[in-house]
Amino acid sequence: MNPTADVQAVLDRVRARYGGAGGPVGATSASTSAPPAAGDGLFATVDEAVDAAWEAFQAYKAVGLDGRHRIVDAVRQAMREHGESLARHAHAETGLGRAEDKIKKNRLVTEKTPGPEDLEPKVWSGDRGLTVVEYAPFGVVAAITPTTNPTATIINNTIAVTSAGNGLVFNVHPNAKRVSAETIRILNRAMVAAGAPRNLITGITEPTLESAQALMAHPKARILLVTGGPGVVKAALATQKRAITAGPGNPPVVVDPTADIAHAAAEIVRGASFDNNVICTDEKEIFVVQEVADALLKALSTSGAVIVPPDKIAALEKVIFKEMGAPMKPGKINPKWIGQNAGKILGEIGIAAGDDVRLAVMPVPVEHSLIWTEQMMPVMPVATVESTARAIDFAVRAEHGFGHTASIYSRDVTTITEMARRINVSIFVANAANLAGLADGGEGYTSFSIASPTGEGLTRPRSFSRERRLTVAGGLRIV
Ligand code: NAD
Repeated sequence: MNPTADVQAVLDRVRARYGGAGGPVGATSASTSAPPAAGDGLFATVDEAVDAAWEAFQAYKAVGLDGRHRIVDAVRQAMREHGESLARHAHAETGLGRAEDKIKKNRLVTEKTPGPEDLEPKVWSGDRGLTVVEYAPFGVVAAITPTTNPTATIINNTIAVTSAGNGLVFNVHPNAKRVSAETIRILNRAMVAAGAPRNLITGITEPTLESAQALMAHPKARILLVTGGPGVVKAALATQKRAITAGPGNPPVVVDPTADIAHAAAEIVRGASFDNNVICTDEKEIFVVQEVADALLKALSTSGAVIVPPDKIAALEKVIFKEMGAPMKPGKINPKWIGQNAGKILGEIGIAAGDDVRLAVMPVPVEHSLIWTEQMMPVMPVATVESTARAIDFAVRAEHGFGHTASIYSRDVTTITEMARRINVSIFVANAANLAGLADGGEGYTSFSIASPTGEGLTRPRSFSRERRLTVAGGLRIV
């Protein structure tokens, strides 16, 4: 296969589908007007952006680990100050999600993305001497970011990649170019004030699919970090470079008869409605075992969701799908409704619901296309199945082998273990919203680039590091 021809074919399909913006959602007038100004890490061309980050990377080597800690602390401080306004700006520019949830996302990545402490060396000391493994930078990392989490991804990638000692060049989604430019600008200023070389992170003022391609192909871009849908993952994997790809998901939820139903409903609404379902880890379909199906629907309706009545289902399908898929196949979602409030979508089918309604719940048979589609809107399909075993079977199939995220509500440890083993995902959550797997209400660290296709999982500074070993045979062991 000729990789260049393959990439071109993908590009052509993306353009045909989205009219050239390179993303399925929410093009606003802001995205077609003049580009953001250059300066503070922003450059007109890919070559300039990469060269500047390359030079900064060379200078960054002299900064040392203490210096890296200071710089990352400054990044966190700047985002504590500006995270809220950037979240509001992201919401206004992309037209996606909920501003209050984007504020929470920015806070989460600001506080819980690991810093240089993640690079703790590994040591073997024994009769034959000492061996140390240390984590070294690669050089310049080329990052492609999505429109669904524009600022959270930039903040998260910046902390993780520069903690590991690398420079970083962003080609952001064209529909979020202004807020992304603003984020890069603020981060650059904060980093320089804390002792970083200028342009350690850079961006392109007018990002396009072509500039994304040029960045990925640039000889000085040592590794790729791609966060987005299947098209960009395929494009990155078609290059000759090492690519860390954070691709799409379709996270299923299983609810079994042993579950605490009230808790399950509350957590499903919290997770599936978060930022109006645009996040890759947000719950996208439910399989509930029949003996608790009615109880779950009732509990969902008292937890901030509206259950769509059977006589409105056909109308809702017409609204949200551009093209419904065949049974058990994904369809094409109407981009107009991606990331919109549930109340707005329900209004289209004559159901009056305010903006406080977080989720529309659509009871459907398992074959229904919405179960098999990454919808990225707060419309949640629920299928009733006869047993827990069938629920797990369908969950595995609906996840499409993405290996991304899945969850279960159950008090049965055997069932939890069985599903976790079989579904084989990067993030598996039991008895909480998937947000818990991102360290929001659960233990651990966070990432907004979850690399399932290439296996790094929740990316962290170590993901952007080369392992280097020092062995001193017969010496340096001091005990
Ligand atoms: P998208 O794939 O449309 O765009 C992502 C980025 O890739 C954008 O910058 C876009 O301009 C660029 N792009 C798209 N096609 C390209 C191509 N062929 N060549 C070069 N660049 C290309 O995705 P989106 O709508 O911005 O984001 C939503 C998708 O991303 C969903 O599928 C979601 O699951 C996924 N996502 C995954 C993660 C994760 O951590 N795994 C995180 C966020 C989003």
